[in-house]
Amino acid sequence: MAQYEPNSDVDRPVGSAGCPNPAAAISPGRSDAAAFDPECELCEAARFTHWYYEDELCWVADCEVCATPMVVWKRHGTEPPAAELEAMLARLIEAGEERFGPEGGVVDQVMRQIPDHFHAHYRDADWMSRRWMEPPSRYTGVGTPRETR
Ligand SMILES: [Zn+2]
Ligand SMILES: [Zn+2]
Repeated sequence: MAQYEPNSDVDRPVGSAGCPNPAAAISPGRSDAAAFDPECELCEAARFTHWYYEDELCWVADCEVCATPMVVWKRHGTEPPAAELEAMLARLIEAGEERFGPEGGVVDQVMRQIPDHFHAHYRDADWMSRRWMEPPSRYTGVGTPRETR
C-alpha cells in the first residue's frame, strides 16, 4: 500500500543558494583596515623627531606639530581592537611620563590633522606655548636619550 506523496518542491531551486552575495562573502570589518596607505603621513612614519618606542603594533614619537609624544598604530585605520588600543595608550603614557614626570599630562585621542589613521597625543598643560619656545627634538634612534636641535 504505497503512499503517494507528490513532493513537487524538491526539484526547484531553493532560495538563492546558487548565487552567493559577493559583498557578504568579503564583508570588510572596520578592524580589517588597510595595512598601509602610501598617501598617508602616519603610514610613512618619517623619522625626524625623537622616537620613544617602537614595536610590531605601534610607534611613539614627538608629534612634529605639537612637539608632544604621540602614539601611532602601524595600520591605516581608525578603530584598533580594544586590546591593541589599551597597549598603545600604555606605551604613550610611559613616554609622556618619561618626558613630563608622573601624571605630567593627559591622553588626547582626538585626531584632528589626520582623521583616518589612529594616533593619540600625550599633552602636558603647557604644550601649546612650549612648542613655540622649545627647539624641536631630533631622531637619534628608538628609545635613546631625547635630544633637541
Ligand atoms: Zn595611515
Ligand atoms: Zn600633534
